[in-house]
Amino acid sequence: MLKQVGFAGLTLAFAAIGISAAAQQEVNIYSARHYQTDEALYTNFTKATGIQINRIEETDDKLLDRLKAEGPNSPADILIVVDAGRLWRAEQAGLLQPIKSKVLEERIPANLRHPEGQWFGFSTRARAIFYNKDLVKAGEIKSYEDLADPKWKGKICIRSSSNMYNLSLMSALIDRLGEEKAEAWAKGVVANFAREPKGGDSDQLLAASTGECAIALSNHYYYMRMVRSEKPEEKAAAAKLQIVWPNQDTIGTHTNISGAGILKNAPHKENAIKFLEYLASDAAQAYFANGNNEFPVVAKALNNPELKALGTFKADPVNVAVYGKNQPAAQKLYDRAGWK
Ligand code: FE
Repeated sequence: MLKQVGFAGLTLAFAAIGISAAAQQEVNIYSARHYQTDEALYTNFTKATGIQINRIEETDDKLLDRLKAEGPNSPADILIVVDAGRLWRAEQAGLLQPIKSKVLEERIPANLRHPEGQWFGFSTRARAIFYNKDLVKAGEIKSYEDLADPKWKGKICIRSSSNMYNLSLMSALIDRLGEEKAEAWAKGVVANFAREPKGGDSDQLLAASTGECAIALSNHYYYMRMVRSEKPEEKAAAAKLQIVWPNQDTIGTHTNISGAGILKNAPHKENAIKFLEYLASDAAQAYFANGNNEFPVVAKALNNPELKALGTFKADPVNVAVYGKNQPAAQKLYDRAGWK
């Protein structure tokens, strides 16, 4: 889906009535997000600052390709994507610039932003375990490590290893356990597959709800979508499942971010900083997180009743920048483990 608002059209309109484009306050955003509640997010910023927002919405990977193709002439000021692993890819491609902002440093926990300010997390997502309540007893599975226990042979549904969410999870496990143990874990999980990896996180949840497998791994918001769905069959599927926040007794649950960075050649850098600082405000935090049933990085901004109902949990406090750093090793490790 491509949704383009403004850009050339606006500039032309202003040229026609003799106002220079430079006088026009604007900021250009390339975003991988496309949620209803984001509309209010953008409108409120323009109302408060007078800065017009122009947006291009595309999938994460397409945005990165587009930015690389546009090079130094790109009109983009801000890149918004999901997963620290993708922000790392943008960083590696030299697309971003480091930003110093007291507001961002104070509002966003240090482990949820790049150490030198190349990108910042604005919401978090947890990679959780889900089990079918008819097939697994409460307390039987508590950790990522448990997924590799031979007692779950033929019971686990999980997506492919090339998927960014699984790459980031493995990057974190490498950091926490070391490569050797992480590889033994991956082999153990592969031995427990109920089926060859296929589909996205929602497909794993559905398979667990029908009993095709007993246990699935998924980001929490796919489950929340089912819980909040208006389709009775999706609500019923969610009711079959129990969420487990993994590793509460050890390292904490693996979490990732939706985040943003300012592009190296941003034509409106000051406006872009203003927008990121706005995203860290209480009001914007609630909109940003709720769009996808994620957790705001400013914890007190959480106002999603269904999400609150899941209760609090301990998140792995590792700096999410590690996910990118270990990404190449993670993919190699998955390949050695035979995880398709
Ligand atoms: Fe997702």
